[in-house]
Amino acid sequence: MYNIAMKKSGSLIILIIPIIILALSLVYAFQNKPAAPAAFDGELAYAHVLAQDGFGPRTPGSAAHAEFIVYAQTEFEKQGWEVNLQQTERMGHAITNILATRQERPAVLLMAHYDSRFFADNDPDPNNHTVPVPGANDGAAGVAVLLELARVLPSNAPVGLLLVDAEDQGRIDGWDWILGSRAFAETLDYQPEAVILLDMIGDADLNIYKEHNSDPGLTEELWAAAKSLGYEQFFIPEYKYTMLDDHIPFREKGIRAVDLIDFDYPYWHTIQDTPDKLSAKSLQVVGEVLLAWLDGFMASRR
Ligand SMILES: [Zn+2]
Repeated sequence: MYNIAMKKSGSLIILIIPIIILALSLVYAFQNKPAAPAAFDGELAYAHVLAQDGFGPRTPGSAAHAEFIVYAQTEFEKQGWEVNLQQTERMGHAITNILATRQERPAVLLMAHYDSRFFADNDPDPNNHTVPVPGANDGAAGVAVLLELARVLPSNAPVGLLLVDAEDQGRIDGWDWILGSRAFAETLDYQPEAVILLDMIGDADLNIYKEHNSDPGLTEELWAAAKSLGYEQFFIPEYKYTMLDDHIPFREKGIRAVDLIDFDYPYWHTIQDTPDKLSAKSLQVVGEVLLAWLDGFMASRR
């Protein structure tokens, strides 16, 4: 005999059980949902520019330079990062690179130089050619974005934050450009999948062009991320400059590296490179582009 009523109540139970399981698992999922990552805050990044400016020019060997190292270490550690100081020397000068990590050998390195140039030798007034550059955009801006990223990067992001020393002393007797990044790249014992350099990205009139010495594939990825956010007026999809910058030592090791730089900055290497030439909005744009790119990068590795 075939009991239809039994069959019906049986299938009702069979139907109800999965619904209860689904409901319970939804409740569980919502309770355990990770908090949404904090949003990048350009104003907080700008505060890091003002803090650096407050120390004075971070020329190698100066008190301001030493104060900055303590500041960066404190800020990173406050956000739960482990800080490693690479102390070495180049051309007889002490070099301190600052690496913040949350995991061994991060696949991505985000980098900026923190030193200020000894001489404002591009200043229209020759009397200022022996005065240090304040370095609000040339140094502090890129550092500021990295310090704010330390606060908002998702905890599983495979990222290291690298602040390099002694980038900006080329064409000065006894010095050269990019000493800190060269020292770092020489001792790097693995191949990161991407290295992204931020240099002079705080200009209130932000125009970042593609750069000829950068890895073309990674360049396209970053410009696509900018476009997806509607930031094409800031990340202009054209090549313009060819830079000798901190990305070069990594490129020479065959690592995908890009220099994000706005070299259309009239105050470059002048005493006018001060925080009032920058905007929180520009720092915001760059921070958001990096986070959007990183989202795609992490999704592609899953
Ligand atoms: Zn410079």
